[in-house]
Amino acid sequence: MSIRSALFILAGLLFAATAGRAELTVSSDFENGSAVGDGIDQATGTIRIHPAGDPQRGWPCWWYFRVDGVELGRTLFVEIDRTTGLLPSETGAGNEGKPLNPVWSQPAQAVFSTDGGETWRRTETGKSNAGRMRYAAKVDAASVLFAWGPPFTPTDGAELIQQAVAEHPEFVQAFELAKTREGRAVPAAVVRAGKKPDAERYGIWVQARQHAWESGGSWVGVGLFRWLISDDPRAVALREQAVVYYVPVMDVDSVATGNGGKGQKPNDHNRDWSAKPHFPEVAAAQKFIRTLSDEGRFDFFVDLHNPGAGEPKPYFFTAPHEELSELGRRNLERFVTAARTEINGPLPLEPKQKTSGANYSSKWREISKNWVVFNTRPHVVAVTLETAWNTPNSTAAGYSTVGKQLGLAIERYLRESPRAASSKE
Ligand SMILES: [Zn+2]
Repeated sequence: MSIRSALFILAGLLFAATAGRAELTVSSDFENGSAVGDGIDQATGTIRIHPAGDPQRGWPCWWYFRVDGVELGRTLFVEIDRTTGLLPSETGAGNEGKPLNPVWSQPAQAVFSTDGGETWRRTETGKSNAGRMRYAAKVDAASVLFAWGPPFTPTDGAELIQQAVAEHPEFVQAFELAKTREGRAVPAAVVRAGKKPDAERYGIWVQARQHAWESGGSWVGVGLFRWLISDDPRAVALREQAVVYYVPVMDVDSVATGNGGKGQKPNDHNRDWSAKPHFPEVAAAQKFIRTLSDEGRFDFFVDLHNPGAGEPKPYFFTAPHEELSELGRRNLERFVTAARTEINGPLPLEPKQKTSGANYSSKWREISKNWVVFNTRPHVVAVTLETAWNTPNSTAAGYSTVGKQLGLAIERYLRESPRAASSKE
């Protein structure tokens, strides 16, 4: 048990001991918290909220809050209302000037935790009625956290990396990618093992959470990172022949403040990969990747996201294939074949890719993986992985398995040099 979860449980016990007749209260004034209370029915244990995110700071779909004063064993009902705030223009997907479609904030099942966020369980399947979703959960603690999906905060990312460095100082290093516009640190890690000089290693970049609400992307990253530092011989092989850069949360400011991030003003984080990025963490990532590529040691980029509510399987977004070199196309096909072999369940890869070109977004050139294609050597593979979030396996464990399998796919892909025959670049 972590100190955080011990304090959480202690706070719940103190509350229960001092409150007399327990009264349910709701709070969200913590990292990544987001809820506007719309009323508590103490008699039935029904809590109504809607997401607190500012539409100017992205689609307000994320919600995460704590309930105190719960009688042990009581079933609570959580009702998520649609948000009424209007989305700004050019937000994407036809939402401009309208409230967000509630499908984004109302997963089939939500999650809850009675140990301060160490472990997350799923609620029963929600029931939708007139735009409001109602979830039920039997709670065996005085305090309980409820969330849209398993949360993953910048602090979680920093702690994950610190723990990895403590356990494996010989091959994991921590670094700060950037300070955000609001002055927060963006934690990152670099993994390299063995004696091979950097000049002879493959360069790999893994990042998540350009869209803050897509917490599943971070959990896929966690699975990949934990696998990469494990003693699986294939993980050892990969870290001995590659340098892997890992950023668990890119849009730290939006995640920390519980905002949705996607479509935010003045710029969506994943439409910010321009010559003049708004976000310092984007500028820093570009600089790393461009330097690695200029030095002839960059090979693979993946950006981790969650897709639309109706997507049943993970799938890749790629740059339009006509924008790739012949070698780039061949490498992409080889990588996707490896990924189809490895990402085989419980969330198996959808074999068909999607592409994001001019008819996907007017800012398609400023999408991360497209920027990588246009700014690195022709053999480089750059993809976005969209992992389905609205399925029974879209849990921290299910996402982590996808991440491990993604790592295995990268290892399989790099058994053959992607740079072979690319001497003309
Ligand atoms: Zn996204």
